[in-house]
Amino acid sequence: MSRYQVAIVGAGPAGLAAAGEAHAAGARALLIEERPALGGRAMIVPGARGLTEGLMRDLGGVDVWRSSPVWGLFGRALAVLRGDRTEIVTADAVILATGARETMLPFPGWTLDGVMTVEAGWEAVRGGRIGSGTGPVIVTGGAEAGGLATRLADRGVAVATVGPARPSGASEGIPHHAGALAAAEGGEVLERIVLTDGAVHECRMLCVESPRVPLVELARLAGCPCTYEPRLGGTVPRYDPRFALHGPTPQLYVAGDAAGVDSPRAAAETGRLAARYALQALGLLADAQAKIEESRRRLAAASYPMPGRAREALMLGAVPLDVMETLDVPGETVICPCEGVTVSALAAAVAEDARAPDDLARWTRCGMGVCRWRRCGEPVLRWLGGALGVPIGRLPLPSVTPPVRPVPISALAHSGAPAPAGHA
Ligand SMILES: Cc1cc2nc3c(=O)[nH]c(=O)nc-3n(C[C@H](O)[C@H](O)[C@H](O)COP(=O)(O)OP(=O)(O)OC[C@H]3O[C@@H](n4cnc5c(N)ncnc54)[C@H](O)[C@@H]3O)c2cc1C
Repeated sequence: MSRYQVAIVGAGPAGLAAAGEAHAAGARALLIEERPALGGRAMIVPGARGLTEGLMRDLGGVDVWRSSPVWGLFGRALAVLRGDRTEIVTADAVILATGARETMLPFPGWTLDGVMTVEAGWEAVRGGRIGSGTGPVIVTGGAEAGGLATRLADRGVAVATVGPARPSGASEGIPHHAGALAAAEGGEVLERIVLTDGAVHECRMLCVESPRVPLVELARLAGCPCTYEPRLGGTVPRYDPRFALHGPTPQLYVAGDAAGVDSPRAAAETGRLAARYALQALGLLADAQAKIEESRRRLAAASYPMPGRAREALMLGAVPLDVMETLDVPGETVICPCEGVTVSALAAAVAEDARAPDDLARWTRCGMGVCRWRRCGEPVLRWLGGALGVPIGRLPLPSVTPPVRPVPISALAHSGAPAPAGHA
């Protein structure tokens, strides 16, 4: 077991800034990241890379564990996968900076090989898996889709965009097909897309810009209540003005997109602020009040107006307005790719009285695959809200149980962590 004063989960802008603060205050600190590289999603896209690289330079003597997914949180004890073993880390303060994940909303054919989010498209570019031989590629969405299309075109990939309007950021030379995406088609692998006006375009890759949904599993595992706030990206944990999570365990904090989707600079400032509050509570921050006020000013300047206001309201205890969300797709559309569950199967379960995601899991196995609701959780909540006529924030969330990441059985056997409960 390792013991630290401050442990930070996630090395995007928020986690890096928090770790830098802990180092500056002289705390014994650990930064844990599940990917091999630091920088988080901000490294995928050129727009935010400079900020992140600057933050990496401030890490000083912070211990950094890469390729180390955190799969459980028990009080302030973190279960971390290191190779094929689990290490338990305890800390006087834990900061969750796990970010947000682009989550595709289902449409016919979305599970075909070759259909992916814009985030996954950028990952493929970074990993060198896309070159002039790839393609044709179609990209659809807004500014982030436009940026990806331009990068692909620069690499010599045959790329086109699709949508009601040309995505901003897509260079002029890239062909644009006006219209809305209706379906992706192919055998096992993507071959073409069909638009709502019936137009067909051949392609081998389709990148769909999708909503970014905060990653809140660890906060939920810690017993933190959540609320649905679309201005912050969907389901977010409840936290106070110090970024301390509500729930049974003190000294757990949240920062960055995990606390609500905002700009990368705002993510960094929330990380800094959460760390400063944590260090103040531990008696490790000199001149705490002035530093916290400075951080608050910087956060106000870095936030986009809408999420900034929503976050302030959430911190003061406001309950967001009820929102009705729906997901209107044909019944044969697969909604849970891991288990191959269709919308019709969910509808049959609702007809049999299923009223919550856990009921759907019991009836259909929806959400019980390896991704544990990460791909289907948001779409299922939207669909269920629409089907029952219930605002999405009033639906119970799917159960969350450790491990929240796939782990080998050997890592569970000698971990010293509580045995995982049966799923759902
Ligand atoms: C497709 C896409 C395009 C974007 N385009 C732009 C752009 O053009 N310009 C711009 O300014 N911003 C852009 N952004 C937004 C920017 O990336 C985010 O605002 C910023 O990265 C948020 O920082 P963060 O630290 O909160 O989270 P992230 O950067 O997401 O970092 C979170 C980190 O936590 C790690 N993590 C999560 N769970 C665990 C776990 N259980 N154990 C261990 N580690 C874990 C993740 O691997 C990740 O490294 C884009 C984002 C995406 C997805």
